[in-house]
Amino acid sequence: MSLLVTGTIAIDTIQTPTDKAEGVLGGSCAYFAAAASFQSPVRVVAAVGGDWPSGHRAILESFDNVCLGGLEERPGAKTFAWGARYLENLNQRETLFTKLGVLDEDPPPVPDRYLDSEYVFLANTHPKVQTQFLSHFPKRKLVVADTVDLWINVARPELLGVLKQVDGLILNDSEAVQMTEITNAVTAARRLMEHGPTFVVVKKGEHGAVLVHREGVATIPAFPAEQHQIVDPTGAGDAFAGGMMGHIASVGMTNFFTIQSAMAWGTVTASFAIETFGLLRLTQITRRDIDERLRQFQAFARVG
Ligand code: AMP
Repeated sequence: MSLLVTGTIAIDTIQTPTDKAEGVLGGSCAYFAAAASFQSPVRVVAAVGGDWPSGHRAILESFDNVCLGGLEERPGAKTFAWGARYLENLNQRETLFTKLGVLDEDPPPVPDRYLDSEYVFLANTHPKVQTQFLSHFPKRKLVVADTVDLWINVARPELLGVLKQVDGLILNDSEAVQMTEITNAVTAARRLMEHGPTFVVVKKGEHGAVLVHREGVATIPAFPAEQHQIVDPTGAGDAFAGGMMGHIASVGMTNFFTIQSAMAWGTVTASFAIETFGLLRLTQITRRDIDERLRQFQAFARVG
């Protein structure tokens, strides 16, 4: 089953209360692709600038199932760069800078051999780019989009246009409030579904996530990590989406129960991503580690 992602490949600078990482590989697309690759081959369509470190390409290439045929390097341009600082509890962060670089230019072209993609993830990027993208995939079976506060602030009309065309939306609880002015996650999700999507996943950080779907509602806790295991929460959302979409593409089904199970795969994949800065931890694990942690998680999350 063909899974494709478009979004950002970034040079991240991250400050946590105890540590700092400068110039690490990040970006919505990078985290998503690495996470999804444990379940399914994943095609990447993204652009980077001439300043993109060769070491960052090597990291992405180290994932067997990440296909970089749609990664465009633009010598005269700058790679998207993002800096953020986490507050004491690691649940809140502030963005220190966002340098759009290549995001300010035309989106990267989609290679002909990717046009048959059936599962498409519009990772976090400008909503205008997300919309333009969809016209390329006539065989799409499931399209899911992600977004972030910046785009809700500066491109709300374009974002509402994206909602009309996608099957699913993934966003944080604070972003759901920002979009709807409704603090209840379930009600906010339903309001967002009025704009088009069949389902909305609202992520609540250490409190898990809720799925609101036309066929039902599901809730899932976060993986109960110990404080010392959480080094850098960056990319948790994208890794969650990657694990989730990778599972959906691997089973080839898109119903409510498949999405509910997929959220568990997303949760355990994200729990690895936050154990180091950047993608390092994801380069160190195998599918077997994810399977093992999924079993632990199922035991932790049993109800009734
Ligand atoms: P997450 O922690 O899941 O929200 O993802 C953080 C990643 O998204 C970082 O690696 C950033 O480089 C990237 N990112 C941050 N802001 C944006 C934005 N406005 N658009 C696209 N990607 C972004």
